[in-house]
Amino acid sequence: MAEGDSIRRLAGRLQHTYAGLPVLASEYRRGGDLPVRFTGDALTEVAAVGKHLLMRFAGGRTLHSHLRMQGSWRTHRPGWRPRPPASGRRDVVGAWFDFGTAGVLAAHDMPVLDVVPTSREHDVIGHLGPDILAADWPGRFPEAVANVRAAAGLPIRAALMDQRNLCGIGNLWAVESLFIGGIFPYERSARVDAAKLLDLTHRMMVLGLRNGTQATTGDLRRGRTHWVYGRYRRPCRRCGTPIAFRAAGPGPYDRETWWCPSCQPPSPDEPAALP
Ligand SMILES: [Zn+2]
Repeated sequence: MAEGDSIRRLAGRLQHTYAGLPVLASEYRRGGDLPVRFTGDALTEVAAVGKHLLMRFAGGRTLHSHLRMQGSWRTHRPGWRPRPPASGRRDVVGAWFDFGTAGVLAAHDMPVLDVVPTSREHDVIGHLGPDILAADWPGRFPEAVANVRAAAGLPIRAALMDQRNLCGIGNLWAVESLFIGGIFPYERSARVDAAKLLDLTHRMMVLGLRNGTQATTGDLRRGRTHWVYGRYRRPCRRCGTPIAFRAAGPGPYDRETWWCPSCQPPSPDEPAALP
């Protein structure tokens, strides 16, 4: 899943492979606009902010991308060029960069792909709250906690996913950390200890980043990597209760959710904030 930790790993890989190399040929085109030329420029740095990827070039431009559910950056053999997509095929190459013997880096099916002056990156990432995996997270932790608390009437699961509160958490980490915290996903944010939950999620994601895995159970065997994510009707690994599921709703942060009704009960005294 393209969440904060996987985007950070991707940024590290791209930085390691391509930073400092000149672009020998390239293509980037948005809609009907004239193509933007990167040929002759050099990639200097690749950074992750939340789930956003920033590729900075020596010429003072930044290519901003966001993978959402379908996008990918892929490396192709030296000399590769994209073929026009056959009718009906979804795979569209939005940009490619030829780095000579290091290969060709291409954006496939990328839903967000913009070029901004590096001095104006704020325009594309300025709305994001503190990044749960950034070095400045400890200093910005109180801000993130306050943001989640301010979403008092909303379900905690949506407050965790709203990247304006804090960024980098995707659906998988949200669902799994709520299970480990024993929190009903649709509990009102005001009734949740946000500091405890954010600290728990941060520690889980740092461990995942360090170990290069999104397994939350500590068990890397196929089918055993998660507590509740993707496990509808299967027995809870802790108590055996069948895992519950709720489909995604219309809200931008109302994604599909799994939880254990026994390990994550709603508060008995107040109705939950079901969307
Ligand atoms: Zn359970």
